[in-house]
Amino acid sequence: MNNLHLDNLKNAKKIVIKIGSSLLIDTADGQLRQAWLDALGQDVTALIAQGKQVIIVSSGAIALGRAKAGFVKGKLKLEQSQAAAAIGQIALAKAYENAFIQHNIQVAQVLLSLEDSENRKRYINATNTLNTLTSLGFVPIINENDTIATTEIRFGDNDRLAARVASMVSADMLILLSDVDGLYNANPQTDKDAEHIPVIKNITTEIQKVAGSRGSDYGTGGMVTKILAAQIATESGCNMLIADGRANNPINAILNGSKSSIFLAQNTPTAARKKWLNATLEPKGTLTIDKGAENALLNGKSLLSAGVTKVTGNFDNGDTLDIQNLSGMVIAHGLTNYDSKDAKQIIGKKSHEIADILGYAGRTNIVHRNNLVLTKSK
Ligand code: GLU
Repeated sequence: MNNLHLDNLKNAKKIVIKIGSSLLIDTADGQLRQAWLDALGQDVTALIAQGKQVIIVSSGAIALGRAKAGFVKGKLKLEQSQAAAAIGQIALAKAYENAFIQHNIQVAQVLLSLEDSENRKRYINATNTLNTLTSLGFVPIINENDTIATTEIRFGDNDRLAARVASMVSADMLILLSDVDGLYNANPQTDKDAEHIPVIKNITTEIQKVAGSRGSDYGTGGMVTKILAAQIATESGCNMLIADGRANNPINAILNGSKSSIFLAQNTPTAARKKWLNATLEPKGTLTIDKGAENALLNGKSLLSAGVTKVTGNFDNGDTLDIQNLSGMVIAHGLTNYDSKDAKQIIGKKSHEIADILGYAGRTNIVHRNNLVLTKSK
């Protein structure tokens, strides 16, 4: 067992765990594997006790729902999958709540679509909500919003969804619990000489090739979607582990050295975020801030409306803005929580006055520190 797996997991502060349908649901009868889920609660408790934040991305809604709906085995039509997801999701959420509350862990359900991580307005909302939930000590249980997904529901989508979530919350470890214990240089089901690859430093074309299209037929997405997930995660500064989660207490097993594959982060989450904010998004306007706000930003705080003296440009919430000091020097870039019309009305005002001015309870800050990168250091 390579120490990198253990060191990275032990040092991780924010961990996203993705759980495939085949772990949670018994293939034979479509029933929930209750004992497994209860034991997962123990693993999560242990991580939280070490001061880590945990976010779960769980599949299983369709697998649970199809049994309840009485759909026979075989491929479902899209509308059947969406109905099964609606039926199964409520049962899935209940199962997590019941299993985790025994360990005093409170959970919250979040249903996302892949577009939520692509459209900036939705991205900023989803990110803010997830960060609020984790800071309140709740474990978000996330699934794709399958009932309204506009594209076909594809098994394995949750691998990518989990990677996007990891990137959104700047997680430093993503664990894909699956029915395979990692990446092999050939298909281990058909090739007895297949060798396990414990550490993947770079996702080369060779790595993509060996991933092939292997997968189980009950919900997991094979290696292809896992490699796509690894690309998203590692570029966002997050390490990604693939481990066999079938036996009880899989996280504990990884910590005790069980076999797994780790894809190493290409960056730190902060550097990746900075690159993303600086390179891909064109600033749509400028906020000029006073000396107090400048000091707050340089000390890692969020930007409050009270410290903004001027708003220029026409922008929407979720757009990137330049943030400049009183001498006109751009000191940061950030995603705004308010559009230009509302921002103009609340500058110089205290956060508690915002609701009265705008007629709705907006966010307490104009730019949250998680969505802000400094271009000038202290
Ligand atoms: N979102 C689907 C479900 O909960 C599963 C997608 C996947 O397995 O990746 O049933």
